[in-house]
Amino acid sequence: MHFKKRIMVSGGCGFLGSHLCERLVRDENDVLCVDNCFTGTKNNIIHLLKEPNFEFIRHDVTFPLYLEVDEIYNLACPASPVHYQFDPVQTTKTSVHGAINMLGLAKRVKAKILQASTSEVYGDPDKKNHPQKETYWGNVNPIGVRSCYDEGKRCAETLFFDYHRQHGLKIKVARIFNTYGPRMHPDDGRVISNFIIQAINCKDITVYGDGSQTRSFCYADDLIEGFIRLMDTPDDFTGPLNLGNPKEFTILEIAQKIIELTASDSKIIYKDLPSDDPQQRQPDITQARKVLGWAPLINVEEGLLKTIHYFRHMN
Ligand code: NAD
Ligand code: UDP
Repeated sequence: MHFKKRIMVSGGCGFLGSHLCERLVRDENDVLCVDNCFTGTKNNIIHLLKEPNFEFIRHDVTFPLYLEVDEIYNLACPASPVHYQFDPVQTTKTSVHGAINMLGLAKRVKAKILQASTSEVYGDPDKKNHPQKETYWGNVNPIGVRSCYDEGKRCAETLFFDYHRQHGLKIKVARIFNTYGPRMHPDDGRVISNFIIQAINCKDITVYGDGSQTRSFCYADDLIEGFIRLMDTPDDFTGPLNLGNPKEFTILEIAQKIIELTASDSKIIYKDLPSDDPQQRQPDITQARKVLGWAPLINVEEGLLKTIHYFRHMN
């Protein structure tokens, strides 16, 4: 008989959370989606609500929650700079109090728990640490406008490892690099969604700075596969583990690619670079290849075309 796992996804109404819920429901688990709908929306999971093995609970993870589950994926946290800087104190609370509450729940019910951490724990990496390996301790401004997110996520990692050492919790920490795809929030200001929406509406494409800063973009389905494999690793494997696509692009290259793929007449314009914007970012995924047998399969053209299709047909 197939043993149905009860799996909780905090942040399940968001971009990545909704893809994860979809996958876990498809794999016949009992899925509990917990979200306060701050940046996520019920629309992202509306198609799952009719499934008998899916439930939605509106709840803010900065408050304790009592449920019985076997596994927890902790994704609750605004992820785009525009959203996490909107209410920075709440962002830190969500990362830190949210982690304490989710870890407390995992401890009480002896659940395995995975943290959606981020490449932002590396801050603005120096040249010696490019691409970033998990052993790099990072270069983070503790008092800047991005700190509520970066330091919140760093503190959450600390809590995960302390609960593991002190209470023997089964933890998994994924450091996610920039990920994109359908269901990204259209107004969250992230580069891929911004450029696609600008391009399909023939508006100017807003490159911040001179566009020489780099990012490496992973398509959502690849990332979700990495999550599932990480959760299924033996209990003695905790991570942190980089999950991302190692193919690096300048932001200008991404703008040009999106103009080409949308056959848009949009022009590129240059705006001020936001403060503390990292100059370069690329994951070293040697560990993920070795431990999970995982690497992204979807190249950027394919992923962008699927995302463009989504934004053209949304609503
Ligand atoms: P998202 O904003 O679409 O999703 C976050 C979800 O968390 C939303 O549904 C939001 O309503 C919910 N949420 C926020 N605060 C909450 C709270 N206090 N209580 C309950 N729910 C709350 O973002 P995403 O891109 O799907 O990111 C998901 C996770 O992955 C986040 O933890 C983010 O830090 C991490 N991550 C994402 C990326 C990326 O490129 N997408 C990169 C690194 C890390
Ligand atoms: N960016 C840009 N134009 C935009 C939105 C973002 O040039 O309209 C740049 C931004 O300054 C950063 C990169 O794209 O250098 C990625 O930004 P995003 O907010 O998507 O992610 P993060 O900075 O958190 O990696």
